[in-house]
Amino acid sequence: MGKTKGNEEIGVEKHVQVLILGAGCAGLTAGIYAARAGAQVLILEHGLPGGQAALTAAIDNYPGLPDIDGVSLMQKMEQQAVSCGTELLCTGVLSVDPAIKTVETEQGRFTADTLILATGAVPKELGIPGEDKFRGRGVSYCATCDGFFYRGKEIYVVGGGNSAAEEALHLAQLGKRVYLLVRKNALRCDAAIRERLLCHPKIEVCYHRELVQLQGEAEMEFLLIRNSETGELTRVPAAGCGVFIFIGYRPASELFAGKLEMDENGYLITDERLQTSVPGVFAAGDVRKKELRQIVTAVSDGAIAGSQACKFLSDML
Ligand code: NDP
Repeated sequence: MGKTKGNEEIGVEKHVQVLILGAGCAGLTAGIYAARAGAQVLILEHGLPGGQAALTAAIDNYPGLPDIDGVSLMQKMEQQAVSCGTELLCTGVLSVDPAIKTVETEQGRFTADTLILATGAVPKELGIPGEDKFRGRGVSYCATCDGFFYRGKEIYVVGGGNSAAEEALHLAQLGKRVYLLVRKNALRCDAAIRERLLCHPKIEVCYHRELVQLQGEAEMEFLLIRNSETGELTRVPAAGCGVFIFIGYRPASELFAGKLEMDENGYLITDERLQTSVPGVFAAGDVRKKELRQIVTAVSDGAIAGSQACKFLSDML
């Protein structure tokens, strides 16, 4: 993790002023703001820093940086957080007790004066037969990670939102042909990207199409696709093809269930200062209940949560 401290230096038990869960754009920005305000900050991340944004091929709408790719943007954010004095530790989080601001991890217990929960969201699954069986062997939730394996092949993308549209455009650079399976008769993505999709020579937008099953013995061999208007089922040969699923995200909030107020979908409820139902515990980014989930709004959340956490620290004195 670049300039981060070695895990052995951090030890098995540590108290910090600001403890952040998640090193996506919200968590890293919170780290930048809190560290620049003079707080001692530690970010815990179970995977690689960068979150969902680092898995996005091209980011078209981050102001000031048109055409930047997700990996580059998130590397810059990570470098900036580290250079401001934020520590990053790669470890799995086992449990969180917001009431006493304590986090149990695979590398010991951490306590804090204030917590910022920026755990983001994870891709939703279709929940159809064969999806688990062929995960990583035909089925993927990340075009940047797995698109390369389907160069010159036919690729099926499920979904009609911004994620599916953007990733279909990326995959069209690699695949022979991309079929976008949209369950209704309309795309939900922004107009600008819809135009690019509809006129792309290698992309076919297939409305009223639902993927209902992935079939095969050792390898994926067929897709069962249902016409949602007529109910007709079609069995499509799919040996060697890629199936990319982008049907939205669900909040990574299981660790907080029953401990913090959430909406019916598991998004954390915050006030305007991004404080959760427990004082001194803030939430930022996609894990939070809000209208618009974008990199720019996650960054905005991070800035608010980081500065509010520092205000909470000064109010403690
Ligand atoms: P969205 O919720 O926006 O869209 C989900 C899509 O998947 C919809 O077309 C939906 O269809 C379809 N869908 C949902 N469930 C199923 C299912 N079971 N079977 C088939 N299709 C299904 O999710 P996204 O991941 O696209 O985006 C999430 C958020 O992130 C959005 O706010 C989006 O704007 C944002 N985003 C922003 C980007 C950017 O700014 N650059 C890039 C990517 C995402 P239906 O319409 O029928 O419900």
